[in-house]
Amino acid sequence: MAINKRKPFQAVSIPSLNTPNIKRRYSVTQDIVSFRRCPRQYGTFNVHKYAPAYQTQAYFGTILHQVLDRCHTHFHGKIEPSTKGSLPDNGNIISDQEIEEYFDDLKQAEGAKTTTPTPPSEIIQYFIEVENGLKSQGIRAITQDMRVKAVRLLQYFNALEGLTLYPRVKDTEHRLQADRTNHILHGVVDLLVDSENLQANPADCEMWDYKGSSLLDVNPKDLVNYEFQMRVYAKLYELKHGVLPKKAILYFLNELDGSTCPSQRPKNALLEVSITPHEIDDAVNEFAQTVLQIEQARLNDQWNPATSGNISEKDCDICDLRWDCKTPNNGKGVQLRYP
Ligand code: SF4
Repeated sequence: MAINKRKPFQAVSIPSLNTPNIKRRYSVTQDIVSFRRCPRQYGTFNVHKYAPAYQTQAYFGTILHQVLDRCHTHFHGKIEPSTKGSLPDNGNIISDQEIEEYFDDLKQAEGAKTTTPTPPSEIIQYFIEVENGLKSQGIRAITQDMRVKAVRLLQYFNALEGLTLYPRVKDTEHRLQADRTNHILHGVVDLLVDSENLQANPADCEMWDYKGSSLLDVNPKDLVNYEFQMRVYAKLYELKHGVLPKKAILYFLNELDGSTCPSQRPKNALLEVSITPHEIDDAVNEFAQTVLQIEQARLNDQWNPATSGNISEKDCDICDLRWDCKTPNNGKGVQLRYP
């Protein structure tokens, strides 16, 4: 073949690249609920991956979830068969003072690089194991009080609910997923709980989700998001098991807090979310709408803050972006500390 010396590449043809149609995975909580709470925060930390200075919410919620997961594992004897059928610490509770003393001793031993003291209870042992894992991801408690409070709530939950709840737990961290036209939707349900008759039938199962907050402290918009989350889970559950779950339950762990363990479940600790087919369809449509909004925001790289009144002041108080955001303080912004 004669080569045109002035245009040596004229005969070379390069096929255009076929961009593969890769579907993005959207998590119900990490993506959809986060974006609905505050698009700017979502864009900064979830899309651009800036590291937040403090991960207070992540610490508290994750440590409660993971230690409770170990409590279920303990009861079912999955790691150590000898613990099967028993509650961690047999449901006993140690005082805040003992917890604090142990944390102080541990800190001292770690500082002096000497042998660390034995945890005074199984719950504290699980707590420290989980906390060490979180530390390696840069997630820490910002105060000692927060750590003591987390252990207190875990002990109370274990003592109050353990004997009736743990035997009914059919699965923990139950993964659900659905392949939609242009994205993959997934979620993780904290607990699948058999209804009282203990028939292992998917139609008799309840989905439980733990929240670290109190029901009364939850901003109405967040509550709508929690209900939305449970309805999307119900749809995913139906796609996986062919039937809807019997119930969708939110458990607000902070409702247990106080100087002593409650002798019966506080009225506001448990909230049953209604999951009628109509409500589920609405939630699934909203999910698809939110995915479109996220895709649009990605396209323009534009992440607007939540509007005042649509996000709790508590969420803004611990957000690193608050110094440059008009939303906190009822839309007045945060006063800068320097002149
Ligand atoms: S301060 Fe509040 S509204 Fe502003 S970005 Fe942070 S969470 Fe969003």
